[in-house]
Amino acid sequence: MRLIFLGPPGVGKGTQAANVSLKENISHISSGDLLRTAVDAKTEIGLKAKEYIEKGLLVPDELVVKIVVEKITSAECEKGFILDGFPRNLSQAKSLDNTLNESGKRIDKVFYFTASEDVIIKRIAGRRICKSCGAQYHEMYSPPVNDNVCDKCGSELYQRKDDNPETTSVRSKVYKEQTEELIDYYKRNGELIEVNCNGEKSEIQQNICEGLHSMSEDEKGME
Ligand code: ATP
Ligand code: MG
Repeated sequence: MRLIFLGPPGVGKGTQAANVSLKENISHISSGDLLRTAVDAKTEIGLKAKEYIEKGLLVPDELVVKIVVEKITSAECEKGFILDGFPRNLSQAKSLDNTLNESGKRIDKVFYFTASEDVIIKRIAGRRICKSCGAQYHEMYSPPVNDNVCDKCGSELYQRKDDNPETTSVRSKVYKEQTEELIDYYKRNGELIEVNCNGEKSEIQQNICEGLHSMSEDEKGME
């Protein structure tokens, strides 16, 4: 099963992807996490990507495509994957299509997550992440048991540098200008399933689950 999770920054793609990845036993590939790991490790790509991330701009396609394609063509993605944060523009979507075509594969479903601006701003402002395992928390909505300590591995939590109000508003603008057109692209080229993320985590999970197991128009035709 090969899935794309599409939607504005802060809508909750990462949280939902982690969950589906566990349940369905497929890899969770977050382009943002891959880039942040590269930045921390000071790799060639990381050094180049850093300034873009801190400004809230898209990292140049050739860098992101390289890092993501390496992952999806690796053995750990053989059973399938969830792409979270990639593709983010048409050129990336086409690179992805080409890569998959080369091995006769395709994207099965695209989940498009939506939420009101209000909800998104609150989610980003309160987001805290584990330094070591990457688990995500929220100050108010899903706090850890002990203040600032990860429930899963005991490491310290931090706030992403780009989760401040100024950079968040740039990220939101970039999303509207460059990423939003992918909604139409995937409507035309595949199956797009819209999931409203204003509600509770459990309700959202239930909606994704239904979307995952619903039959596509093609499959219905084959019955
Ligand atoms: P959220 O994690 O809340 O969904 P987000 O989507 O803005 O928010 P990430 O996906 O973690 O956050 O991305 C953080 C930054 O990493 C982006 O602002 C951008 O600079 C860079 N980045 C991540 N994925 C891509 C991509 N596919 N193309 C270009 N830049 C990317
Ligand atoms: Mg994310």
